[in-house]
Amino acid sequence: MTAASSRASAHSPAHSSTRSPAHAASAAARAARATSVGSRTDVGRVREHNEDSLLIAPPLYVVADGMGGHAAGEVASEIAIRIFEEAAITEADPETLRRAVLDSNRAIIDGAREGLGKQGMGTTLTAAVIENDRLLLAQVGDSRAYLLEGQRLHQVTRDHSLVAELLSRGQITQEEARVHPNRSVITRALGSDPHVQPDLYEMRVHEGDRLMLCSDGLSGMLSATTIQQLLLKNPDPQQAADALVDAASEAGGHDNITVIVVNINKVNPLANARHKRRFIWGVAVFFLVLALLVAGTAGGIYAYARNAAFLINENGYVTLYRGLPGEVLGLELKWRVEQTAVPVSSLNPTTIDGLERGIQAESLNEAWELIEQYEEQLERP
Ligand code: CA
Repeated sequence: MTAASSRASAHSPAHSSTRSPAHAASAAARAARATSVGSRTDVGRVREHNEDSLLIAPPLYVVADGMGGHAAGEVASEIAIRIFEEAAITEADPETLRRAVLDSNRAIIDGAREGLGKQGMGTTLTAAVIENDRLLLAQVGDSRAYLLEGQRLHQVTRDHSLVAELLSRGQITQEEARVHPNRSVITRALGSDPHVQPDLYEMRVHEGDRLMLCSDGLSGMLSATTIQQLLLKNPDPQQAADALVDAASEAGGHDNITVIVVNINKVNPLANARHKRRFIWGVAVFFLVLALLVAGTAGGIYAYARNAAFLINENGYVTLYRGLPGEVLGLELKWRVEQTAVPVSSLNPTTIDGLERGIQAESLNEAWELIEQYEEQLERP
């Protein structure tokens, strides 16, 4: 390790937590328990200054590789880190992450205009948020995120660089890319284009997975195979970070070297259960409300039926019932009161027709009044 090596003490999680609301602090504490982290940034063997910056503020991890030379590159990367620190991100929300990238970009452009650093300064940015089993990444430039799943290492971000474009067109190989004379030319950075957008990636992670973020001073010096071997050989994240930086330095250390290794120790099944519980509870509430509606409706119908009355033709005579004719929800809601001496056949055709189905009355009194009217019809000659 050289004298310029540091372990990111300037951006400790405790520092950012003190500015965050209590819930953010507890989310950060949960995130910190679920992961263990190692990191290191090193000037390398060729450069005089370290323009890389990093942030460890669980569940947020950021690597920024500044450019523009001394008193510019590190200013740009530090501005980006400061904006992310202030954003106090506690959730894997793509819009929040995108917003922090856009704010960083604007802060660097404004900073240069106001005399901070130098005109033309810029930075790459690779930011990761790990919330339970979700990994969200924002990418601008050629810093990288790798994920080690079991024994397999994947590069999960795509570089915004000239060689990445040549690679994707099949014009050069991976090994040629690592030594290409224009390998440091990047096609997207923060600090120049006010309309820059990050690439966003979202994926599932599992217990035991390991995330590595690094600047090109690491990935440019070490092959993916070497990175994979060093991660597998060093299960402890700080030892892994040290081994990776040492190896990149021994391989030449042509550029500043920065790495963050995050071990995903615990994927909390409760977080998923919480969602499930909320869903089941939602379904339960739905059925409860439905049951109450049905019960309420049935209760209402029953109460109405108890008060209501109807007349019907039973064996040729007008017969009085309390309740409702026919069936309601498959139930008979009627109680026979008495059969009158009024023959149905003596009544007018409309009434005869009505008595076949039942003539509804609001109350027993109203039904008696109808019976009296029928009796009057009978008495007329
Ligand atoms: Ca670099």
